[in-house]
Amino acid sequence: MNIGVLALQGAVSEHKIIMRQLDINIIEVRENKDINRLDGLIMPGGESTTLRKLLKNSEMWDLIKNSELPIMGTCAGAILLGKCKDETFAKIDIEIDRNYYGRQRDSFETKITLENNESFDGVFIRAPAIKKLGNGVKPIAWKNKEIVGCTSGKNMALTFHPELTNDTRFHKIWINLIENTAKTF
Ligand code: GLN
Repeated sequence: MNIGVLALQGAVSEHKIIMRQLDINIIEVRENKDINRLDGLIMPGGESTTLRKLLKNSEMWDLIKNSELPIMGTCAGAILLGKCKDETFAKIDIEIDRNYYGRQRDSFETKITLENNESFDGVFIRAPAIKKLGNGVKPIAWKNKEIVGCTSGKNMALTFHPELTNDTRFHKIWINLIENTAKTF
């Protein structure tokens, strides 16, 4: 299995370290040709406005928009996967509210809960919130009652940064999702 991590901006090396722990081959994606033959793409956190601009400048925007490539989006990556007032890929039917918890200094770490009731250290950095779940969306992580992670088909959106804790569980959930569903490309 070949997984790519978008390496235009944001937390790239941390995702690589986690994928290597899972024995997954991971490559850095900077241009369209890097996307060929990928089984999945990680869109890391950073700044969604900047990411959008860089994706459009590098011409990867249209390729990703029109492909069925499974995507895991964390924080800014989750914003681009969902729907908000700015242009996004809208691959997951969720409404996303950017910078929901305030400014950079309002970033925080807190326990979140998985489906099986296990807990996970959630790192929220100027994080967005998932406000509304639409068709085909399955919640998979909660901060109290707030949904902070979900999947839709082979895509996964997390408002926090699982790559910043030495914990492979969310990456594993996504890899299982890709492996257990038939390939369409
Ligand atoms: N606040 C950023 C945005 O709106 C996301 C922050 C992050 O990815 N850590 O795009």
